[in-house]
Amino acid sequence: MNPDEDDSREELLPRLEQQIRFVPGIGPHRAQLLQALGVETVRDLLWLVPRDLIDLTHLSGVNDLTDDRIHTVRGQIVDTDAKAISRGRTLTSAILRTETGLIRGNWFNQPWMLRQLEMNRDCLWTGKPKFRDQRWEIGHPRIQWLDLDEDNSPGKILVRYRLTEGLTQDALRKHVGQVLDYVAGNVADHLPIRLLEHYRLPRLEEAIRNLHQPSSVEAFQAARRRLVFDEQLDFQVGLQLRRRIRRTREKSPVIHVTPQIDARIRLLFPFELTRGQEQAISDVVTDLESSNPMHRLLQADVGAGKTVIAIYAMLAAVAAGYQAVMMAPTELLARQHWETMHELLLHSRVRRCLFTGNLKASERAQLVEQIRTGEMQLICGTQAVIQQDLQYHQLGLAVIDEQHKFGVVQRSRFDSAETTPHVLVMTATPIPRSLCLTQYGDLDLTLMTEQPPGRQPVITSLLLNDKSRHKAWEFITAKLREGRQAYVVCPYINSDNPDAPAGALQVYESLSQNELQDFRVAVLHGQLDRGTQHEIMARFREREIDVLVATTVLEVGVDVPNATMMVIEDAQQFGMSQLHQLRGRIGRGAFRGYCFLMSSSTNEDSLERLRAIERYASGFDVAEADFALRGPGNILGTEQHGSQPFRVTRFDRDEAILKETSRAAERMVEKGTIDEPDFAPLKLRVIERFGNQLDLTRTG
Ligand code: ADP
Ligand code: MG
Repeated sequence: MNPDEDDSREELLPRLEQQIRFVPGIGPHRAQLLQALGVETVRDLLWLVPRDLIDLTHLSGVNDLTDDRIHTVRGQIVDTDAKAISRGRTLTSAILRTETGLIRGNWFNQPWMLRQLEMNRDCLWTGKPKFRDQRWEIGHPRIQWLDLDEDNSPGKILVRYRLTEGLTQDALRKHVGQVLDYVAGNVADHLPIRLLEHYRLPRLEEAIRNLHQPSSVEAFQAARRRLVFDEQLDFQVGLQLRRRIRRTREKSPVIHVTPQIDARIRLLFPFELTRGQEQAISDVVTDLESSNPMHRLLQADVGAGKTVIAIYAMLAAVAAGYQAVMMAPTELLARQHWETMHELLLHSRVRRCLFTGNLKASERAQLVEQIRTGEMQLICGTQAVIQQDLQYHQLGLAVIDEQHKFGVVQRSRFDSAETTPHVLVMTATPIPRSLCLTQYGDLDLTLMTEQPPGRQPVITSLLLNDKSRHKAWEFITAKLREGRQAYVVCPYINSDNPDAPAGALQVYESLSQNELQDFRVAVLHGQLDRGTQHEIMARFREREIDVLVATTVLEVGVDVPNATMMVIEDAQQFGMSQLHQLRGRIGRGAFRGYCFLMSSSTNEDSLERLRAIERYASGFDVAEADFALRGPGNILGTEQHGSQPFRVTRFDRDEAILKETSRAAERMVEKGTIDEPDFAPLKLRVIERFGNQLDLTRTG
């Protein structure tokens, strides 16, 4: 690149968007180091939220301590000690020497703390002091270690960043300072004053400065809140604009559900609907009867009976003369839905098909033609149903199962130029509230928390040693003798090494010869051909098999009410929602379900996840716990990364801001404030950032 181009670039771009290497004092070498932190532009650097604050402005001396609030003291550790106290508990303690006297710190049941207590290094302790035995002590103080260059900053608040090789805290602080000077007086605020005042937000420039050189802890927090607010507001306004486009420009067919149609559909179900199902049907029918496209998310726990809602809605669409399609994320799930529907519709004339990627070319061509002419009324399939060449005749409704496995974008693929179908999204993996707001902010929500009558929550136990495992098998074999059945789930089909996680084949061998020698045991996995798999499942359903040792082929699609027990081997190998799905297979009938999680893991994180599964029976609670333990990225899965434009939001902490911005965006778009002149920079920015992703550009 020649220098002239650089200059013109510099004139055209606002300073925030400049490449970092052009900032005076930084240069190409430093810029390269910063790249490792994901920093390319001035904005990238300024939006790096410090991971920690060192507050040297409010230090207490020993004589200032009181037991009614949190204090911070500064000193060096001069002595440590660890001992066992009553009933297996441990006590670790340390003595901190400060300029004004000694203070003791205590940690109960945290023996690993001892290794972390460095002697004679400057540090801060923060916590609530207590005066005991003529001395001040603090229980479980938070420790912050000070670096040498931080010794000499009395009366200041220092920020600390996540670092990369070759960069020190001090160097990074210096570069941020240079960049702050570079943009000073040049940061345009895209939010109008009245909005800032209403939500008590600092101006952008002030926020950026206080994020890195805070005048107080409160100023830092306000600064961070402003950046999270911005980030979320952009996205929420984007979602709301998209919703408005749909409302005003797109029309869906009005699908009337007459009492006759309603009665005819209900006759298909061999049970009374639950109150939750009635409510969901009523929500859906209200949506279908309007020409505003339905965009509804149905959230319910495993086994709550979502399929009933899907089938009801699809048949209502078909009865009104439209096509209906259901999309599932895997072939297995699609097939399961297909079988359920097919069975219910055995005596019905509705023309229906299963449409997946596995069709023979001739079959596929025929179905494509029948779908195009409208002869095919009800279609159940995988993502194959949104392939480009597939044209619907008059698509009235699309049901998307397990939406979280698809991206936000895929949802809109059903929309063709002339018609917009109603869309019902279903998820069996409840989504944490805060994520729900960001991913599904433009959807109406129906929650079905109730389970069909007679279901009892599955009792789950985590078994970590041989003794408890032995007891579990005694329990299981007793129940088998009473006529119940069981599943044993293994992470792998085959495992060649006794230390590796369990293989179904080995577990099958071992159980057949030992614990289960008196019972009929079979093994099921994905490498058996389809015919054999079906045959084994059929025999299990007919109670010709007592125990089925299997891989996660069981995760979906098995519904055997007499199977009331499940053993999950090496449970730490599975994700939390997967474990919850798995145990959703048992306790479906009149008998109570028991799930045994076997693990020999010593990894604290793994054990914590398993304990959460043991503790929570509801998928909603499991989802919240999973989220708290793992954060949002993993839950959304890789496919969503393109639509995860969040770099400052911490989903575990920022729920209040998410709610605030979601409401703000809704009101702004509903009242039309977003179209007023002082909101233009915000609107422009939203369209620039999310226009393509959210399909906002179609407004013209
Ligand atoms: P999910 O919400 O996990 O998709 P399903 O729709 O697969 O749940 O339903 C789980 C089981 O509950 C199925 O066997 C279904 O037939 C049964 N079921 C659904 N609704 C009811 C009901 N109202 N009463 C009794 N059983 C029901
Ligand atoms: Mg389901």
